[in-house]
Amino acid sequence: MIMTKPIISGVKDRCSKCSACIRVCPVKAIKIIDGQVEIVDAGCIYCGRCLKVCAPEAIVMRQDDDLVKEWLVREEVVAIVASEIYAAFPGLTINSLRETLLDCGFYAVEESILGEELVAKEYLAYIQRPAELPIIRSTCASIVEMVEKYYPEFISNLAPIVSPMAAQARLIKSLYQTSTKVIYIGPCVAKKSEAQKLPDGVIDAVLTFKELKSLIGRDSFNAYLNSQPDGGPYKYPMVAHNYAASDGFPREILQKNSLIDKSLIVSWGADRTYKFMDRVSALKTTAKLFDLMACQGCIDGPVMETEIMLEERKRLTANYYHRIPKRSIAFESLKPSLPAVDLNASFSSQKVELTMPTAAQISDILSDGGQISAADELNCGGCGYPTCRENAIAIFQGLTDWTMCFPYQKKRFSQSTQELKEMSATDGLTELANHRAFQNKLKDEFKRARRYQTVLSLMMIDIDKFKYINDTYGHLEGDRLLKLIAELVRHNLRDTDFAARYGGDEFSVILPQTTDKETFVVAEKLRGLIASTAFFVGAVQDEKKENITLSIGISELNSSDTDSHDLLSRADKAMYRAKEGGRNQIVIAS
Ligand code: GH3
Ligand code: MG
Repeated sequence: MIMTKPIISGVKDRCSKCSACIRVCPVKAIKIIDGQVEIVDAGCIYCGRCLKVCAPEAIVMRQDDDLVKEWLVREEVVAIVASEIYAAFPGLTINSLRETLLDCGFYAVEESILGEELVAKEYLAYIQRPAELPIIRSTCASIVEMVEKYYPEFISNLAPIVSPMAAQARLIKSLYQTSTKVIYIGPCVAKKSEAQKLPDGVIDAVLTFKELKSLIGRDSFNAYLNSQPDGGPYKYPMVAHNYAASDGFPREILQKNSLIDKSLIVSWGADRTYKFMDRVSALKTTAKLFDLMACQGCIDGPVMETEIMLEERKRLTANYYHRIPKRSIAFESLKPSLPAVDLNASFSSQKVELTMPTAAQISDILSDGGQISAADELNCGGCGYPTCRENAIAIFQGLTDWTMCFPYQKKRFSQSTQELKEMSATDGLTELANHRAFQNKLKDEFKRARRYQTVLSLMMIDIDKFKYINDTYGHLEGDRLLKLIAELVRHNLRDTDFAARYGGDEFSVILPQTTDKETFVVAEKLRGLIASTAFFVGAVQDEKKENITLSIGISELNSSDTDSHDLLSRADKAMYRAKEGGRNQIVIAS
């Protein structure tokens, strides 16, 4: 089977950067850079956990149902259906399933019981052999990927026995015409990879239950589901499980599994198993067999396509199996008439090589993300990696970036919000508060003075004949002077006073808890200072000394003021009166 598209891949512009996929990926074979998610195919073990948690469906599995649909039209296609289908679709019976698939164009519908029995028997024989190495069960395609890619030193521990899927397919290929296409339908993503890697290409395609639904058509599928609610009598001969548990592992061994049994170590679940493998060399074990699975059995497969809880799925499967023996054929009585099937599997190293950063490189990356000291390393897991150091290593390896670090982003966000806030309230030229900030402040101070019955004054300052400066020396020189005067105003006020650039060459100062008489003192200090300062204006070679003066209007809050505009308007008028009075003077509003 040649399929070039990757089994799991990311969809452009759909990732919400929640990092749930990275968090659940046991081998961290996911890359999220600039908000785009990609699956690192060379490192993926196809456990399918990322598919399950990706709410925006930014991670998707390759759909092979269209390909199979084409084959159904012109080829003989045999389906092998995993028994987990009865747990995924409770209304489904073996009769309705077969009829549905035959209607759809399948040539025949098989289960994998014979394959499971063949494999289980082979395991029993293999385990009983005097072995030097502990055996790792190899029926789980995802665990095989894990060993080949991350722990190739354990390849010789993998039981060299094919999975029930492959055994059943080999059986079918030798029973049917060689041109027959064999499709496996199950709850597992990793089976797609296993099928691709089988040297004899005995499986032509693997479909998940979701793809099966899409192949049949969702509506038709539901109609078929309901067509035989009671299941009806079995119309087909059935084979009983004598040796295998549902996924081709000897039932006898699973039954023996207990806390006091030292010969068998069980680890189910991709995350747990990955960690277990990491420590297995150090483990002082007398175990002869490691029963490793990426899920809690295939019934917990990542693409089961059901919300039914695991325990209920088990009950549904048990129901299914309990009904078989009534009309079943024992495997042993069938075996002599079965063709010989090659049950040998071989595995090869596909070791994932990732460059590790030095301690200094890790520190550099951490400080890029604002993590200067150990206390800054929150290890909150928001990025998907368990620790900040592991996140830094992944950044070094080009798998992620700081945009995925939630605390870092939060810090940057509040910094930029603060900067924006300041920018929106500051005058770009003089760096005094701008007109809007002044109006807001004046409203606040007006309310406060009213509430606490305190005094409040306002000063409006306008530079006299400023246009002349612009016209004579140019606007750049005008700007320089405006900045200078703003600086002088700012430095000659109290901390509680609030100075703003009202606009143009006009400044305003709010003076809380200050009377107009007291404000006059401040204004006089400013007026005198500016008037007595010699301002040098113009190009250096022919700069000139200019005297600058201010006209200032002052108002004090009075009982008839209804809002801050009244105070402002009176100060403004007073300032104009100062202009009319000949400039370079201060007028207090009446
Ligand atoms: P008056 O004594 O009556 O106030 O005379 P004036 O020339 O100062 O007249 P007015 O206050 O009406 O004009 C303000 C001038 O300030 C007009 C404009 O050329 C100048 N101006 C306003 N904003 C800026 C600025 O941002 N930079 C510069 N260089 N000049 C400005
Ligand atoms: Mg002016």
